[in-house]
Amino acid sequence: MDDRTFRNAMGKFATGVTVITTSQNGEVRGMTANAFMSVSLDPKLVLISVGEKAKMNEMIKETGKFTVNILSEDQKEMSMLFAGQLKEDRKVDFDWIDGHPILPNSLASILCDVYDAHIAGDHTLYIGKVTNIHMNDGDPLLFFEGKYRNIANPSNVG
Ligand code: FAD
Ligand code: NAD
Repeated sequence: MDDRTFRNAMGKFATGVTVITTSQNGEVRGMTANAFMSVSLDPKLVLISVGEKAKMNEMIKETGKFTVNILSEDQKEMSMLFAGQLKEDRKVDFDWIDGHPILPNSLASILCDVYDAHIAGDHTLYIGKVTNIHMNDGDPLLFFEGKYRNIANPSNVG
């Protein structure tokens, strides 16, 4: 099977969009990710899947911490920025909770300590133990068939 067929099929699964953040020695990094799920209530665990070549992978290995910021429909540019899809660099001001950088105005920021990690093919699955949560009201940014969408106008693509 070719890669395009696999990606097209996975793209049929509509998701929200997150930006994973972590920091080391005062440097903050962000990476757009839609491979995110809730895993367990007791203890409270979530999962992300990070490509082996992503700089974020090395950084999470070293810091042992990450935050999952669930994006609102107003944060498409943040998704593009942290996926390397914007031509220009942007300065982003992060907020801080418990020493974790969080992306302001996200629908939810889920602070995690790495609980377990599994290499799976060309990605690493990080299971995070949730240590704190910050939430805001709003509607989500969606990703379906490789395009951004929103709930109010699902046919709006970008
Ligand atoms: P880089 O490529 O170095 O960083 C990404 C971009 O973020 C760069 O342009 C960088 O300049 C910018 N950036 C980082 N930190 C800052 C900062 N502090 N201030 C300003 N700009 C900053 N990949 C996965 O592994 N797993 C997924 O689940 C996943 N889901 C995705 C979902 C969507 C909708 C999209 C569009 C992409 C997804 N990707 C996913 C791909 C991933 O976002 C890109 O491959 C990403 O560029 C890899 O990040 P990196 O850690 O190598 O960092
Ligand atoms: P796309 O058509 O590549 O994505 C559709 C779906 O395919 C995604 O939602 C995801 O479920 C899956 N997918 C895509 N690339 C993958 C990968 N390398 N590993 C595992 N699953 C993958 O959409 P697009 O707009 O062309 O994506 C933009 C870029 O972001 C591409 O370079 C893509 O590879 C990357 N991306 C990576 C992941 C991931 O690593 N899990 C997820 C989404 C997008």
